[in-house]
Amino acid sequence: MIIDGKLISLQIQDEIAIEVNKIKSNGGKLPHLAAILVGNDGASETYVAAKVKACEKVGFKSTLVRMPSTTTEQELLEKVNELNADADLDGYIVQLPIPKHINEHKIIEAIAPEKDVDGFHAQNVGRMALNLPTYLPATPYGIMQLLERYKIETVGKHCVVIGRSHIVGSPMSILMARNTNPGNCTVTLCHSRTPDLKEFTLKADILIVALGKPEFVTADMVKEGVVIIDVGITRVTSDKTKTGFKLVGDVKYDEVAAKASYITPVPGGVGPMTIASLLKNTLKASRREVYF
Ligand code: NAP
Repeated sequence: MIIDGKLISLQIQDEIAIEVNKIKSNGGKLPHLAAILVGNDGASETYVAAKVKACEKVGFKSTLVRMPSTTTEQELLEKVNELNADADLDGYIVQLPIPKHINEHKIIEAIAPEKDVDGFHAQNVGRMALNLPTYLPATPYGIMQLLERYKIETVGKHCVVIGRSHIVGSPMSILMARNTNPGNCTVTLCHSRTPDLKEFTLKADILIVALGKPEFVTADMVKEGVVIIDVGITRVTSDKTKTGFKLVGDVKYDEVAAKASYITPVPGGVGPMTIASLLKNTLKASRREVYF
């Protein structure tokens, strides 16, 4: 079965729009999300534009703060402090990557944890590991939503995660091992230093792939009935599309889909869920559900 992330993402956005209408009719303050965009990286422009558009669609207030690529670390820290102090703002994100001359960790740690709707601050990561109320990072949160809404059984299953980045693989391994539903898996976290990866992937009931190598996972690496969550997105050249490019996941889709019980396509699987998760976190922030 194909896991339709686009559909679920739209459903979540509809649910959020209903909540915003309730807030409006009760005369409450609209949830307000801001994004800081430093420089003019093409992909970041696209992501931020999509986030602003999604805010408008569900009825949130949104603010885009643009800063030039020459912005110093000090200037960005000042902007972060300004947004921390802005009482009208419920949450905000600093769109990554930021220019190399700025220390990313320093910036993330300067964001007020209660406004860190990307869930990247060490305090929120720690709260996630301790199973305390927090903002889950958007992509892992989206994957948890997909597993939940498709009622995919995870308890007692063996979940193998490929990739240990701070934004996808590592939080996924924590979430799938927690005593929650979805969760309660036995988790194996694989990375580039894992010898004989196939030995592990063949044992996976649920395989979460986030390494950024197009069509890396092939049918001979998975068992019959596996649940596949393909996080990878790589733009490759194609003579079959008008643009000359297409998006490819980390999984060789057709042959692996033939063996899988569930699979996320690329595009239209995990990708669209990221924005829905950010909106969910912003709604939580506006309701002071995490920090109160
Ligand atoms: P990343 O930071 O580059 O991390 C990649 C991870 O994969 C690293 O832990 C690396 O191991 C591991 N790895 C690399 N080659 C490997 C191999 N041959 N065998 C086993 N492990 C290997 O990537 P990321 O940010 O997590 O992103 C991964 C992919 O997901 C990318 O395609 C990205 O575009 C996509 N992505 C999609 C979304 C979405 O919304 N759908 C969101 C975020 C990312 P080491 O740690 O040992 O180097």
